[in-house]
Amino acid sequence: MPLLVVGSVALDSVETPTAKRDDILGGSAVFFSYAASYFTPVKLVSVVGEDWPNEHTELLQQRNIDTSGLEVRAGAETFRWRGKYQPNMNDRDTLEVHLNVFGEFDPVLAEEFRRSKFVFLANGSPIVQAKVLDQVTDAQLTVADTMDLWIREQNDELRALLKRIDGLVLNDSEAKLLTGEENLVLAGHKVREMGPRFVVVKKGEHGAMFFSKYETYVLPAYPTEQVVDPTGAGDSFAGGMMGFLAEQDDFEPVTLKRAMAYGILVASYNVEDFSLDRMQRIERDDIERRMEKYQKMLLF
Ligand code: AMP
Repeated sequence: MPLLVVGSVALDSVETPTAKRDDILGGSAVFFSYAASYFTPVKLVSVVGEDWPNEHTELLQQRNIDTSGLEVRAGAETFRWRGKYQPNMNDRDTLEVHLNVFGEFDPVLAEEFRRSKFVFLANGSPIVQAKVLDQVTDAQLTVADTMDLWIREQNDELRALLKRIDGLVLNDSEAKLLTGEENLVLAGHKVREMGPRFVVVKKGEHGAMFFSKYETYVLPAYPTEQVVDPTGAGDSFAGGMMGFLAEQDDFEPVTLKRAMAYGILVASYNVEDFSLDRMQRIERDDIERRMEKYQKMLLF
């Protein structure tokens, strides 16, 4: 089942305690698409400027990602983000954000894209996310991501969006910020009471928590020693999760739990190198091998 994603496509500059990379391929929709592509065909909608290297588009196309919705706008510059990780590799500071052409992003979906059954609104303004929802006609499952910037600056718009989506993924500090609740279990349920049927709270190296009216559970992260660059961990988690759900064409509770596990495993690969470098070197079989180890690890 094809999966639609709308979100940022970026050139990132990343500093970790041991290494630094400038202008590498990034953006919420890029990490999401690539991760989801192990499971299902993906339709990507975003905008970049004329400084965008075409080889990045080709890289996405090689993995069955439909980039016909990626607009390359003349006379404009691509979204740029610069981040620096603390020695713990979990906390990071955003040093620079240049929205550039992404600041004027006003997605207009092609007819075929409007009929997508699985829809992911990757990190971006809730106003833009709502515009996407206005256009989709046949969506069975709509899930969104958000971040502290939108919780602070477009709170009313975000709350309005929450009433229209099936699921929300956000990280632990964002769930606390949105609800004013320090207890993460209470915070997760409070977010759910704002509208979505389910909420996934990402906890970085500590895994992810799931909240619905009937279930609350936590899945641990896959323990990897090689954390090179955590950028895109959240997006690749969401990509693995939504990709699996679209592949199964099902979002029953048991499938959602397996989908979360796949999200965790794809993210565990993603953090093992910069940009998409590690994911480029794996296939679905590698994810399945990690799944076997993960299941063994959780059996007691
Ligand atoms: P994550 O590590 O999963 O939180 O995602 C990091 C990615 O999000 C980077 O590749 C950035 O380019 C992208 N990003 C950072 N800030 C924003 C923003 N304000 N809107 C959309 N995408 C962003």
